[in-house]
Amino acid sequence: DFGTIEAVIREQAKELKDKPALVDARRVISYAELDALMDRIATALQRDGVGKADVAAICASSSVEYGAAFFGILRASATVAPLAPSSTPESLIVQLNDSGAKVFFLDAQLAEHMAGVMDQVKAKRVSLDGSAAGQPFEDWLAPVGAKPQLHEVDPDQGFNIIYSSGTTGAPKGIVQPHRMRWGQIRRGVYPGDSVTMISTPLYSNTTLVSFLPTISNGGTAVLMPKFDVHQFLTLSQKHRATHAMLVPVQYRRLMDHPEFDSFDLSSYRMKFSTSAPFSAALKRQVLDRWPGGLVEYYGMTEGGGSCGLQCHEFPDKLHTVGRPLPGHDIRLIDEDGKEVAQGEIGEVVGRSGAMMVGYHNQPGKTSEAEWWSPEGLRYIRTGDVGRFDEDGFLTLMDRKKDMVISGGFNIYPSDLEAELAKHPDVVESAVVGVPSEKWGETPVAFVALKPGAKISAEELKAWLNERVGKTQRLADLKLVPTLPRSHIGKILKRELRDEYKGVAI
Ligand code: ATP
Ligand code: MG
Repeated sequence: DFGTIEAVIREQAKELKDKPALVDARRVISYAELDALMDRIATALQRDGVGKADVAAICASSSVEYGAAFFGILRASATVAPLAPSSTPESLIVQLNDSGAKVFFLDAQLAEHMAGVMDQVKAKRVSLDGSAAGQPFEDWLAPVGAKPQLHEVDPDQGFNIIYSSGTTGAPKGIVQPHRMRWGQIRRGVYPGDSVTMISTPLYSNTTLVSFLPTISNGGTAVLMPKFDVHQFLTLSQKHRATHAMLVPVQYRRLMDHPEFDSFDLSSYRMKFSTSAPFSAALKRQVLDRWPGGLVEYYGMTEGGGSCGLQCHEFPDKLHTVGRPLPGHDIRLIDEDGKEVAQGEIGEVVGRSGAMMVGYHNQPGKTSEAEWWSPEGLRYIRTGDVGRFDEDGFLTLMDRKKDMVISGGFNIYPSDLEAELAKHPDVVESAVVGVPSEKWGETPVAFVALKPGAKISAEELKAWLNERVGKTQRLADLKLVPTLPRSHIGKILKRELRDEYKGVAI
């Protein structure tokens, strides 16, 4: 069973015709319009020398044109490289040139961001918003009625290249094959009458796992260029949204919004979350105050294995990320690469029919990321540490890189963060390990307090240290207004560790 998303849209458009496919603040395009636009985009790409399995990149904020360009690239049998506008200009040049993109879709804002390095862009530039950032989209498009050449696509061909979030280091280009996306859209999570709120950026895998199934199954995607709590609620109500994929920090902001309970969200059937730790307390609030189910996914852009938790069905498992999805196998391994015993902690490795082919142009990094089982099966290492409970639900502790090894003891920052979250004045915290002469490494905490909270850093540190084991005690605690986050809402612990560079603890 294999097909392409591009072909599915082509078939669907014949039946769905005027049904809205993509919606943004400026316009709505129907399935028939989307299909015709994909033809014009694909023809223009082929005219510009983009052949089968060549790459075209997009770096812009979400819009109807962005969505159409994404699918248009696929119709040309090419590979999409959606890049993050929040990357530094230098990193964007590296990503663009590494991807080998022949055409680069961008907008005015991005052109301004990249002004100093634009002369290093080798690809042809097309401006999605019609600005002077490149050839304006409307001019560049092939004429109305143009038909591109269609090619047979191999399941292992690259559907897209995504540069990893770069949470832990420099971004790596991850080639996700057609086979992977095909599997995702067939899971049946987004029925044909879905109206899905897309409020995370389109270049992120987190968004694509929700955007692609919505469109491939004939639903409507409501695109927000930027997450705004009030606007999210207004648009959800206006479009009678049924589905949403949000990251935990967005759930937090929605729950904290004073008007949340006054919006009519009764059209919702299912919400999803992925990409960062989602506390049991916050899940509980979402379940209590927001109609419809809640599913948390755990996975990585590289593919490997994913887990899912139907929070509404398993209220006593909210501290876990659920069980492996059908067709996904997850194991836990120790430092020597041996599988750990049931109930023990280990690094998560996963395997599925939807794994990345490898990191783009980085065979060394690819083999470092692989783990081979005794039976000779290929798994991907996640770098995350976790433990299975007796019912097969996975609890995640921390990323391996974030674990603190102090005087020979493993300290899990997530344990200390969970303890800090119990203090009534604490909004959120991040614990990181910093070098210590005495212990090798020692934990320190960064904490954001509720507005008006009076407790001092010293008092909070003492409060925490009384409640944890002797080896887990914090060496320092800093109060901060907010924690540094990546574009997809992940806490950037490496930036926090940097604050202690050269500081003796
Ligand atoms: P990089 O690999 O560049 O450092 P990244 O690992 O953050 O960035 P992604 O592939 O976007 O890049 O994220 C996958 C990681 O996100 C997982 O390995 C895990 O650490 C974290 N993650 C994903 N889902 C969840 C979840 N439900 N709960 C907790 N953490 C999660
Ligand atoms: Mg990663």
